[in-house]
Amino acid sequence: MTKQDAVESADARPALLLAWYDRHRRRLPWRPPAGERADPYRVWLSEIMLQQTGVKTVGPYFEKFLARWPDVASLGRASLDDVLRMWAGLGYYSRARNLHACAVAVLRDHGGLFPDTEEGLRSLPGIGPYTASAIAAIAFDIRTMPVDGNIERVVSRLYAVEDPLPQAKPKIQQLAATLLADCRAGDSAQALMDLGSSVCTPKKPACALCPLNEGCAARMRGDAETFPRKAPKKSGTLRRGAAFIVTRGDELLVRSRPEKGLLGGMTEVPGSDWLAAQDDKAALKQAPALNGIARWHRKAGVVTHVFTHFPLELVIYTAKVPARTRAPDDMRWVPIATLDSEALPNVMRKAIAHGLGE
Ligand code: SF4
Repeated sequence: MTKQDAVESADARPALLLAWYDRHRRRLPWRPPAGERADPYRVWLSEIMLQQTGVKTVGPYFEKFLARWPDVASLGRASLDDVLRMWAGLGYYSRARNLHACAVAVLRDHGGLFPDTEEGLRSLPGIGPYTASAIAAIAFDIRTMPVDGNIERVVSRLYAVEDPLPQAKPKIQQLAATLLADCRAGDSAQALMDLGSSVCTPKKPACALCPLNEGCAARMRGDAETFPRKAPKKSGTLRRGAAFIVTRGDELLVRSRPEKGLLGGMTEVPGSDWLAAQDDKAALKQAPALNGIARWHRKAGVVTHVFTHFPLELVIYTAKVPARTRAPDDMRWVPIATLDSEALPNVMRKAIAHGLGE
């Protein structure tokens, strides 16, 4: 390919991308039919859910939220507890708290309408630069390119970006912006996202089907799979702790986590601190007092869970207490049959399943 050809193929990319998108766009629950304007509420809700969670998992949650709260005003009037309960299982619970705070702010400060600028969107809880850019482009067709993992991959291959992530982000952002069409900014962004998800996949990209294959630097070099370059990962130190599964007939002893911090406000069974150097005896000393009547049994095996910053290993202790046993002040009994309606994070669901299992 001559230099002139390369320039011409680069100029044609935005149009090629849109033509491909018009034929191959993914059907997603939050996307309107082709040619219709996207609803800012749906775009925002999906973007918050898609932060750190895949499309397949998000789909049913999105539908559930939409059925219960069809617009931002109804979500803004909901209680935080109801929102946390509905969110249970999606993980990264600060998103649910911010989701609620954002709906309240849109209702209170913006008359129930999302601001239509990136700056206005960024002033809302839980909306950072990426999410603001995604909502601005997709819902309001503002000429901005939200760069997600899919777009990072496509662009780093297209231009064979050698810098590793995350340092390469500004460069990739700049290059990605050159793929925006003069109008239909939202479709340009979604086209790249879809291309990354279905054609320019992490393993074995289908370059023959790619509308940008002419002039793709990584395809020409034959090492597309090696992009994007990544700096070696540091994984957090393993932490250990104990969880206490106390039953009173058909009820389980639970409490709410502090509002601030990891899994803020979620429901949990009582437990010890989670420490790198956890000592079994010290962990058992943190069991709920229950007037000294609980006889603790340690279940065989451990429950493991991986948080973003550290992996966790929990040993499980169980105890059965008599019918009239009172819950300690900061705890409560809940029927085991209704646990599904509690805002239980996945790690607690695993601990309870292990503790109640045979
Ligand atoms: Fe990705 Fe291949 Fe398309 Fe290049 S040609 S952008 S590597 S699918």
